[in-house]
Amino acid sequence: MFSAINRKVKRFVLRQQKKKPLVLISDTTLRDGAQMPGIHLLPEQKVTIAQALADAGVHSIDCGFPAAGDEEFNGVRRIAESVKGTTLSALSRTVKSDVDLAAEALAGVSPLKRAVTLFIGTSRLHREHKHEMTKAQIIDTACAAIDHAQKYFEIISFGPEDASRTEPDFLFEVYEHAIQAGALSIGFTDTVGILTPSKAADMAKRIQDNVASMDDAMLAVHFHNDLGLATANSLACIQAGANIVQGTVNGIGERAGNVAIEEVVMALTLHKDEFKKGVTVDPQALAPLCEMVAELTGFKPAANKAVTGKNIFRTEAGIHQDGLLAHPDTYLPFPPEAIGAGPVELVLGAHSGRNAVRHHLEATGLDINEEHVELVLNYLKGRRHNPEDYPEINEFLARLQPFLSEEFVGALAAQAESREAG
Ligand code: MN
Repeated sequence: MFSAINRKVKRFVLRQQKKKPLVLISDTTLRDGAQMPGIHLLPEQKVTIAQALADAGVHSIDCGFPAAGDEEFNGVRRIAESVKGTTLSALSRTVKSDVDLAAEALAGVSPLKRAVTLFIGTSRLHREHKHEMTKAQIIDTACAAIDHAQKYFEIISFGPEDASRTEPDFLFEVYEHAIQAGALSIGFTDTVGILTPSKAADMAKRIQDNVASMDDAMLAVHFHNDLGLATANSLACIQAGANIVQGTVNGIGERAGNVAIEEVVMALTLHKDEFKKGVTVDPQALAPLCEMVAELTGFKPAANKAVTGKNIFRTEAGIHQDGLLAHPDTYLPFPPEAIGAGPVELVLGAHSGRNAVRHHLEATGLDINEEHVELVLNYLKGRRHNPEDYPEINEFLARLQPFLSEEFVGALAAQAESREAG
């Protein structure tokens, strides 16, 4: 009887939660993200990242896959012991021994703050080539694992792998069984990143229309970026009613990576009018978070990476520099403070214009006239590139050094090298 009451209470709380105009961000940087080739995080580093994620306001953290090995188990264990302020989840195959290990790794965490995410491949490819199971066996296996997980967990998520390539009718059936067995959230996963926004949104809608018990579960989306569409797909599904977006910091993850949570958070933040849903992640935490994850994983995103790439607030082009000096909004979608990033950088290089050169020269405190500006500008444009011919330029360049673009400095070094070689 208690379990029947418990279930009713949970359903009530969940339905209330679903009514809130809120998108929940679930982070899998430490699991799907850390699976990326070349990344190896020590348990202590995982704790640091997990606490930063919790402080930033993510709703839940996929801490790892305890059955994958001792180190992975210990990582989850260490996070469970130290990280506060968010729901901690562990990944588990639909195998009882995996569930047991997930429970052991998260032991000690308050029952309402720990969760397990169960997964099994549901597409024909996964059924036939990976699991060698029939559709009925897949459903039975999933339900048995969910049932077993209820021994330890109040919060159970179920995410079929390769959902986007699963026959829709079978997928709806799997979800229905999973919810009835006790899953509180179901995942729509695009494991190979093949969806487009309209197809993703269409499926999100069909899931809600065709899964009878859908009111009793959250719909989570988990998308990969193989076509560069993971963010667009996630946003399309939010419009179609998805409650949870799972992604990673800096979009790290298998192949082209997972959806980058900083992109989803900023799109939602800047377009509240369109989405009419808030997000609990603090946008101002994003730049420091992305930088920390880049540092600890050793994976530096491209300079032109959306939202937090190094070039987002850094420009060398004359027209953009003029505009930014006149008003910072002219060439920026949002100011750096919005994501907790440093100031706009007007770097000097071959593309720079007079105003930016004058701006930086004046800031040196030296007595500057237009001839000096011209001199530096000519130097940057490569029209007179030998400082020895213009001794006065050396003082200017020494002062301007911090503002010279790396690309410009690199080109100078290459020139000098070729002169020496010649
Ligand atoms: Mn994945």
